[in-house]
Amino acid sequence: MPSDPALPPPALRLRVDSGAIADNWRSLDSLSGSADAGAAVKADAYGVGVSRAMPALLDAGCRNFFVAHWCEVPEVLGHVDGSSIAVLHGPTSPADCAYAREAGVRPVLNSLHQVRLWQNSGGGACDLMVDTGMNRLGLRPEELGDAALDPLEVDTLMSHLSCADEDGPQSARQLSAFRDIVARIPHRRASLANSAGIALGPDYAFDLTRPGLALYGGIARPELAGRIRQVVTPQAAIIQTRTVPAGETVGYGGTFRVERDMRIAILSIGYADGYLRAWSGKGAFRHGEIVLPVLGRVSMDMTAIDISAAPHLNEGDWVDAEYDLAQASSCTGLTQYELLTLSGPRLRG
Ligand SMILES: *Cc1c(COP(=O)(O)O)cnc(C)c1O
Repeated sequence: MPSDPALPPPALRLRVDSGAIADNWRSLDSLSGSADAGAAVKADAYGVGVSRAMPALLDAGCRNFFVAHWCEVPEVLGHVDGSSIAVLHGPTSPADCAYAREAGVRPVLNSLHQVRLWQNSGGGACDLMVDTGMNRLGLRPEELGDAALDPLEVDTLMSHLSCADEDGPQSARQLSAFRDIVARIPHRRASLANSAGIALGPDYAFDLTRPGLALYGGIARPELAGRIRQVVTPQAAIIQTRTVPAGETVGYGGTFRVERDMRIAILSIGYADGYLRAWSGKGAFRHGEIVLPVLGRVSMDMTAIDISAAPHLNEGDWVDAEYDLAQASSCTGLTQYELLTLSGPRLRG
């Protein structure tokens, strides 16, 4: 049997600046004061890729990692010992508990049901999530007196802020509720702040912070602007250039009409790659300092751009999407979280 032919290089890629991930972690660790910063690496490190994020985070000094699902554990285990990993969704079956024990990772227990599952399977070090007002995951404060909690070996006692990216009374209310809980429940470490929570100041840091978004370039609160570097840039190759005569239109629906003859390029990136139709007629790419606006609707696999400002561009040349997350979010109406986690399989490579 002949071996599979070697694939040519791809025509699109997500550029990931590992140095920026490391710098962002160091900034967040330093903003966390005496607390350690961990890292949320769920959802394939917010679309950046666990295989690219983990080495940068470990190099920078990060030793605590959070995933959401059990299926996300094996890839992280390829980089770090199980005792450094917590699984936020917790166990929903004895099989989950057995897996946690074998892999040596900590489940985050989010309900009395999960507490009993874990204890019935043999117990051991775990994390405990208490809900202080988000009503998502976590035990209610009034459930904390339940005897099922007595034998628990709580490593990290946690809660999660629901409105830390906005100003308002909710974060302070949650902080005060969490302080009461920290005083009542024995634990090794306490943890409250996500990226935005870190920006709220040292009161919110406790022993361990849990940034995700800001590690990958997201500006979770204005205080972080200037301290967080952009990490991801979608890049695409030009697969065709053409001159469109005045009066004709470009793309599906003919939504862009050419006023005078225009040099355009067709890029090998589209909404199937996570470059959504929200960018239609609004986005831009760059070649060096030259800005190349998106023309008309984004297609599934392709996007048209105006290259009149860079007529030297040709098939095979590469351009970078403008992807500053804060600006991209206000331009498209997508959140910075969505802009990161959207990236499709062809783009992630
Ligand atoms: C995802 C998640 C984080 C990280 O939040 P960011 O807003 O991305 O910093 C922290 N804690 C919990 C419980 C999470 O689910």
